[in-house]
Amino acid sequence: MKRFLRRNQKKHRYTAALLGAAAALSCVAAGVCGGCGIREDSSGVSVLVSVDTAMGTVVRQTVYTEEEEDRDVTQEILRRIRELEHELLSWRLDTSEVYSVNFSAGNEEGIPLSDSLEEILEQCLTVSRRSQGAFDPSLGAVTRLWKIDEWAGLESAEGYELPTEEEIQEALQSAGYEKLVLKEGRLYLPEGMQLDLGAVGKGVALTRVREYLEGEPQVKAAVISVGGSILTYGDKADGSAWSVAVVDPLDPSESLGYLALNGQWCVSTSGDYERYVEVDGRRYHHIIDPETGCPADSGLSGVTVLCGDGLLSDALSTACFVLGKERGADLVEAFGAEALFVDHDGEISMTDGMKAYFHFR
Ligand code: AMP
Ligand code: MG
Repeated sequence: MKRFLRRNQKKHRYTAALLGAAAALSCVAAGVCGGCGIREDSSGVSVLVSVDTAMGTVVRQTVYTEEEEDRDVTQEILRRIRELEHELLSWRLDTSEVYSVNFSAGNEEGIPLSDSLEEILEQCLTVSRRSQGAFDPSLGAVTRLWKIDEWAGLESAEGYELPTEEEIQEALQSAGYEKLVLKEGRLYLPEGMQLDLGAVGKGVALTRVREYLEGEPQVKAAVISVGGSILTYGDKADGSAWSVAVVDPLDPSESLGYLALNGQWCVSTSGDYERYVEVDGRRYHHIIDPETGCPADSGLSGVTVLCGDGLLSDALSTACFVLGKERGADLVEAFGAEALFVDHDGEISMTDGMKAYFHFR
């Protein structure tokens, strides 16, 4: 891993007491007008631009299509992302499979899984094993204890109570991916264990969107972001690269630079600025170290992972945030992915392969 210092004097400038889930990356598709709407370019390709919400975050789409104007492919993509959340991944909605799975915790007969959820969990468990548990999809009891999903809606931290050490230790008892048994299409969750797939949901959505687009030949190219995860699909007509901005975690209104990518990538960012609560001047963010049950403190403020697969990019960015840059770099390299790390001082380091894609602002 090559490391170099870009700046180390910059002070943290966290002003907002609370920040909701914000898109960790923004995409800049050259030639696309801002806002929502359709623009026809000279070759007869329409450019559809939309901004919506799904999965508790912002979904931004720029789609280049030869579509008739009366069929809006962005709305179909949005529908699919929402369906994924409602039917499969949400732990909060009683319509989802994860909700039913969590309800089955402690049931000795386990619960049958759909092929989709089985595949997702198998991939998750691979990352859990290889990250020595830094990424753990069974942390639901702990993430709920911290009330992470409620932080975005809080107007101030007043009334919010941090969990006690005793409560954290108790919640940790019920977590641990090694205690989860996945056998012959059935999942056996021990009593008290709760799945939380929040660290991979947006990445899974990108993979689903790509599969959908592959069956839509009129769509020539697209850039889709779901919160901090971005998909580049297809190539632009002029052959130029997609430009995907990497947010500065010390000042999320700014970018550090951008990744120049062709249309085959998933990019995910995990950062301590995405979702957090500040109590007595101290920031508590949403990425939990499974060893302590508390917000990870590996010295990083943000990690961006580049990978061909959405679930992997998303899982790896979360794992890297917990592991820190040295162990994180080893992990992504084991998966053939690339990563860029920003530590609390703003020092940027990246895997060697990332240097081919990343350009400073
Ligand atoms: P991300 O922003 O992709 O890094 O995902 C963070 C979300 O994943 C949190 O809001 C939690 O729901 C969940 N989470 C937190 N810590 C972990 C962890 N160590 N492993 C797996 N999921 C986690
Ligand atoms: Mg993630």
